[in-house]
Amino acid sequence: MSRIVQKFGGTSVGDVERIKKVAERVKLTAAQGNQVVVVVSARAGITNELLSRARAVCKDPSEREMDMLLAVGEQETIALTAMALHDQGVDAVSFTGAMAGIQTDRAHTKARIVTIDASAVEKQLEAGKVVIVAGFQGINEEGHITTLGRGGSDLSAIALASAVKADKCEIFTDVDGVYTADPRIVGKAQKINEISYDEMLELASSGSKVMQPRSVEFAEKHGVLFEVRSSFNFNRGTVVKAEVPHMEKVVVRGVAVDKDQAKIIVSNILDKPGSAAKVFRALADANIVVDMIVQNVGRNGIANLTFTVPQGDTLKAQKSLEPVLDEIGGGHVAVHEAIAKLSVVGVGMKTHSGVAADLFKGLADASINIDLITTSEIKISVVIELDRADEAARIVHTIFGLDAE
Ligand code: ADP
Ligand code: ASP
Ligand code: MG
Repeated sequence: MSRIVQKFGGTSVGDVERIKKVAERVKLTAAQGNQVVVVVSARAGITNELLSRARAVCKDPSEREMDMLLAVGEQETIALTAMALHDQGVDAVSFTGAMAGIQTDRAHTKARIVTIDASAVEKQLEAGKVVIVAGFQGINEEGHITTLGRGGSDLSAIALASAVKADKCEIFTDVDGVYTADPRIVGKAQKINEISYDEMLELASSGSKVMQPRSVEFAEKHGVLFEVRSSFNFNRGTVVKAEVPHMEKVVVRGVAVDKDQAKIIVSNILDKPGSAAKVFRALADANIVVDMIVQNVGRNGIANLTFTVPQGDTLKAQKSLEPVLDEIGGGHVAVHEAIAKLSVVGVGMKTHSGVAADLFKGLADASINIDLITTSEIKISVVIELDRADEAARIVHTIFGLDAE
């Protein structure tokens, strides 16, 4: 008998008909003699709807209350999925994140999992039940509900797979697997059969929202092998694992676009040791993840700092910088949201040169201006204007020979 974790995302549980289809699939897996843990997201659109309702009643909602609200979406789908299974004659029970023993830290809206006590889930599995767990949520040590960041049901599934020592973890979504680029933007994108954790992580953290970045990080750390596949068919998906043979032969594995970043420019600050430290300390203390950073050469003792943060954090970033501005010489903060980050990712970049030159030339030929640049061993990212991001992704996909025949 195998233990299997199956996660179904928002579109896969988007309405009652789809929930019935999910139940059929789970029933099939259980009928093959497997113990099954199912993790579900909220119906597609629900989390966004709840977020906008929160903002309609309060300019700056408390993160604790936000978690209380957002966790509602998943609670609807666990109950409906359990009921749909009952209707098909399958013994199933729904659990909130807290009931499934998912303990997190206190960082509301982006909490980290500290431990999982899977004993309650395991007890139900041993009793022959399918266990349906609410994705995206946990509980902190004070007993308050927390959420794991957008797309966090992926993390719930991977962490539960690790905790119950599952033989298999399947992430069911609305595309056939991980592609060389978002297939909704790049029509010629191809499905990748196998990909390494490192490449998957870079793609995910560069904006390929098919997997939540932290879930991939967790999978790598705990050695959870998983497959991303479609909930609408039985095609093989993409297996994500440690090593993929001949990996370095492929120079660029994929292209990612992130439209959820904002650029912040802190100008007119004193060009002296400590200024940057104060700015980034304030942001870190507010739990804001800063991505690209550029510091201009100072002139006349005055410098500018430019960096990117998730768009959802811009208000919080501005607020957290207010108290330090005086200390660093007055400064001025400007926010630009009409930007996108375009990234090319591939382990093969470690051993091949010229990727940056080809990328920059391709964009220059299309008169697309590059604003910021960052590189890592296996990734190059550029910030460009939002309006041209999709076109740029298609151009770059072609340049690196990724287009399907
Ligand atoms: P779920 O609700 O199942 O978690 P998401 O919407 O979070 O699904 O992720 C699936 C979506 O990710 C796809 O519909 C696709 O548009 C997008 N996506 C972005 N980049 C990629 C990629 N490289 N490969 C596959 N899908 C991608
Ligand atoms: N419902 C949450 C979101 O929309 C979590 C998830 O779907 O994974 O971000
Ligand atoms: Mg998702």
